[in-house]
Amino acid sequence: MLEKSTRQNKHIAVFLWGAAICGLYLTSLYNYLLFHVIVEMFSIVVACGIFMIAWNSRRFLDNNYFPFIGIAYLFVAGIDLMHTLSYRGMEIIDDGGGNVPTQLWIAARYVQSVSLLVAPLFLGRRLKPGHVFIFYAAVVLLLFGSIFYWKTFPDSYIENSGLTPFKKISEYIISILFASSIVLLFKKRSHFEKNVLLLLVSSIVLTIGSELAFTFYIDVYDFSNMAGHFLKVFAFYLIYKAIIQTGLIKPYDLLFRNLKQSEENLREERDRVQKYLDVAGVMFLVIDRNQNVVLINKKGCEIMGYDSAEIIGKNWFDNFLPGRISSGVRDVFGKLMTGEIVPVEYFENPVLVKGGKERHLAWHNTLLKDERGNVLAVLSSGEDITERKRAEERLERTMEDLKRSNAELEQFAYIASHDLKEPLVVVDGFLKLLRRRYKDRLDTDAEGFIDSAVEGIKRMQALIGNLLEYSRAGRGSDSFGLINCSEALNNAIANLKTLIEESGTIVTSDALPEVPANPTQMTQLLQNLIGNAIKFRSKAPPVIHVSAEEREGEWVFCVKDNGIGIESRHIGRIFDIFYRLHRNGESQGTGMGLAICKKIVERHGGRIWAESEHGRGSAFYFTIPSRKRQI
Ligand code: ADP
Repeated sequence: MLEKSTRQNKHIAVFLWGAAICGLYLTSLYNYLLFHVIVEMFSIVVACGIFMIAWNSRRFLDNNYFPFIGIAYLFVAGIDLMHTLSYRGMEIIDDGGGNVPTQLWIAARYVQSVSLLVAPLFLGRRLKPGHVFIFYAAVVLLLFGSIFYWKTFPDSYIENSGLTPFKKISEYIISILFASSIVLLFKKRSHFEKNVLLLLVSSIVLTIGSELAFTFYIDVYDFSNMAGHFLKVFAFYLIYKAIIQTGLIKPYDLLFRNLKQSEENLREERDRVQKYLDVAGVMFLVIDRNQNVVLINKKGCEIMGYDSAEIIGKNWFDNFLPGRISSGVRDVFGKLMTGEIVPVEYFENPVLVKGGKERHLAWHNTLLKDERGNVLAVLSSGEDITERKRAEERLERTMEDLKRSNAELEQFAYIASHDLKEPLVVVDGFLKLLRRRYKDRLDTDAEGFIDSAVEGIKRMQALIGNLLEYSRAGRGSDSFGLINCSEALNNAIANLKTLIEESGTIVTSDALPEVPANPTQMTQLLQNLIGNAIKFRSKAPPVIHVSAEEREGEWVFCVKDNGIGIESRHIGRIFDIFYRLHRNGESQGTGMGLAICKKIVERHGGRIWAESEHGRGSAFYFTIPSRKRQI
């Protein structure tokens, strides 16, 4: 297709040239002066064109050959213009003969040939266009002066006898200069592209041809003069083509090649970025100002269930968001684009995937701006949190179920323990009655059985009492006011007064802080720990110290004793409900005291643990957050 059109263009060019040559020839037959004017004006216009292109494209040119030639040809055109105007018959600048135009012709050719000869010298050199201009202007002025004013320029044409030897010899010298310039050009051929060199050489060869033709003419209107002029036209045209090739076509080619290369690089860069985005485990999405998707990575396509081609270019809000939220999210997007709001770090919303199902995504947004700060698009990274969301919901439901069943259980324990007390009181009463009424008739064995039964009832009552306490420990309001722990300690000591006195226990304490807690539960906690410290005493009288220390936002309490201590293998389990190390014979207890302590501490948002060395006392630690908080 392209080849066809270039071939057509060539045909048209050949036709036009043919027509022009024929036209010029016919013109020369009709009026040689007209022919001369047309031909010379053509060369002058072309020479000016050479200058203009060389001058304006000098930035693109990697050598100074053409800018130099451009300036030289401008001045050559100037001399040629004078030559045309002074041509015999023009009667503008007229000495009436053929001498002046011939002198001007020779002068122009000298300038042209010497310029072509020295031009290759500027290939690797810096050119100062201003200097070259001044130099040529001076040379041309001198030449004009010697022809028109001083009349010292050698005669070139003498009426009736024809060309002078000076003119003829000059033409040979000029031809030699042209030929030498070809040799020089060849030497420097590495600076030129092949076809440009060919055009330059052809132009110079034609110029030589034209020169030789001019050595033959006898009359300025004869055939060899006409042939010389034709050759000159071709020569100028070829150099013009060379300069277009170098100054316009090549730079633009280069420009387009660079542009293509940059485009290629850009595409490669984009593909590389896409590759990086594709290995990412989250969706990447770019939405432009028109709300259309311009980029989506592999993970995004996976989540959405579409090919990227099915998503790119589509309106995100119309096609991929559930109808109920699309207009709201679109509004937010619009405000982001206009800068009315800044992107929030994180937000969640459902998207519509293939098949119409919804998936839940957590988004992070970044604005993509141009260098002036205008928002071009929004880059969002989306993480599919559908499964997490479901798991969270399941967990929430389970937690609620657990809370409910816990509450039910506590309620049950409360009612059950409350109701269990009744029959126990009855059994206890009847046992006591039995002992009183049948005192004389019972033998010692029966007395012992009754004692054991009463003892069992006591333990049962303690157990039920503890169960009640345990179930109560998790109930009630969850928000606490600040309480004074020293007061809670004093209350606990007061409750244990008899036990403390009987055992000769010494309880000391540091100044205790105020903490957000339930006062009754705090008292019960301290009472249980101090009670245990007395219960599990060694032979020496119990010495108990209560202290508290603030560490990283919480108070760490310690109840330290000099009791029997706990073996390390048991220490992890003593807070379990009903876990006891000592059987009933050894010490009184239900195995619930520490379980109740744990429940109380955890309800206050703290932890409880014990440190002990068997036989060397124990230390029970628990923490309570220092700041008021909602649990
Ligand atoms: P109980 O006191 O009713 O046995 P607890 O839950 O209060 O039940 O205590 C569980 C077990 O932890 C006790 O049986 C005892 O063996 C051990 N224990 C608790 N406090 C101490 C302590 N201060 N010194 C030594 N052992 C202790």
